[in-house]
Amino acid sequence: MAETKGRYVNLPTPSGVQRWRIAYRKQRHYGTVDWDARTIWLRPNQSREELADTLIHECAHVATGLGDGQEPSIEAPISRIAQGSTAALLRMGLLVVEGDD
Ligand SMILES: [Zn+2]
Repeated sequence: MAETKGRYVNLPTPSGVQRWRIAYRKQRHYGTVDWDARTIWLRPNQSREELADTLIHECAHVATGLGDGQEPSIEAPISRIAQGSTAALLRMGLLVVEGDD
């Protein structure tokens, strides 16, 4: 898949709300944050549930200002936040997985 233009969204960050881009590109990781380009990159071919988990995860990185490798102790809590939020969204019917409807 070629790099797409993506969509823009205002995200809370430690420096206030910033306009970030969310777009797809082929990559090894489910999601990555490009701090300089203010872009969250998503790997295509993820399920809706995986995409929700990945988006929450990367938005939490942006919200805390802490990236992978920058602060190793942040990775586990961020992963738990994304996992729990995704489970709650699914349970409340706010996130519908393909085949469920
Ligand atoms: Zn992470």
